[in-house]
Amino acid sequence: MVVEQLYDKALKLLPLDEDEGVMLYKKAPLDELMFVADKLRQFHNPGKNVGWIIDRNVNITNICFSQCTFCNFCRKKGAGDGYVTNENEYREKIDELFALGGDQILLQGGMNPDLGLSFYIDLFKRLKELYPKLKLHALGPPEIVYLARKEKKTYNEVLTSLVKAGLDSLPGAGAEILSDRVRKLVSPAKATSGEWIEVMRTAHKLNLPTSATIIYVHVETVEERISHLIQLRELQDEKQPGHYGFITFVPWPFQDENTVLNMKLHIKSSYNGPDYLKLIAVSRIMLSNIRNIQASVLTVGKEIGMLSLHAGANDLGSVMIEENVVSAAGATNRFNAEYIQSIIKEAGFVPVRRNQKYELI
Ligand code: SF4
Repeated sequence: MVVEQLYDKALKLLPLDEDEGVMLYKKAPLDELMFVADKLRQFHNPGKNVGWIIDRNVNITNICFSQCTFCNFCRKKGAGDGYVTNENEYREKIDELFALGGDQILLQGGMNPDLGLSFYIDLFKRLKELYPKLKLHALGPPEIVYLARKEKKTYNEVLTSLVKAGLDSLPGAGAEILSDRVRKLVSPAKATSGEWIEVMRTAHKLNLPTSATIIYVHVETVEERISHLIQLRELQDEKQPGHYGFITFVPWPFQDENTVLNMKLHIKSSYNGPDYLKLIAVSRIMLSNIRNIQASVLTVGKEIGMLSLHAGANDLGSVMIEENVVSAAGATNRFNAEYIQSIIKEAGFVPVRRNQKYELI
């Protein structure tokens, strides 16, 4: 099969298999991939609208037993600079978020062995009591696996209690690469790929909106990147009609600065702009049933962010007020509302502000 036949298949929204995805990634010229992906973007999101959002990352705690080798944000229990965010700090951060016009926090952090399900239930309830309009995009599959194990509960029970307490949507955090070979090297203590998928399957059955991610350019192969995309697509295929499922897909390049992966294992990020554009385009082609693709302008910067919008992405993500995990590993791009809109316009699109469910506001 030649790449042109794969383009035709993709444009008919037929699912490409692993060999076909790998062939596109390795053999297809970038300009052709971008052309096909742009056509598919227009199918999934007709017109010129490009989404953006104001939200804020708040880290619940930096204490984490997982010690993933790509993370230099986490601290071991007992570390002098370990913390658990207190109510006054939440109030300060959320007041600032509302003052800037946002209403959602991305609540993440480490898997702190001292914090169980009741801690998160109390936290979510308290935040909703203080700020009834606040949206909580919080935790991720590894935390759900950890809490289920700790409390001897099912994923369904954990997620149901968290939703009842105020969880609005579940980020696709901790997917890294859905390959247990890779996970053994980068995040051996975290959820396996099967567990990650099972939590998301449960969330989709509960109709909890979720997102999907990938962290790439570390130890994975192209075949593993493509397999990751296919696993996401197959899970999305299972969702009931009318349920949210994965609302969006967000690729994040690995940032290597000061990480164990770099300093002890000498693995550097192999990120480069053209390869990021290729990943965006191939993702748009492979993920025929996920409507939105978000370029991580926070990590790739203005120019590649703009080009991503011509390679299949239809969203530039967040004016992120605080993002400690990525910034601790070297991401330095910072944006305000005016700037992110000007980037979208400069790329030839119309900026539209959205919420976490990708509804226009
Ligand atoms: S990436 Fe998340 S789970 Fe892994 S060590 Fe850092 S905080 Fe813990």
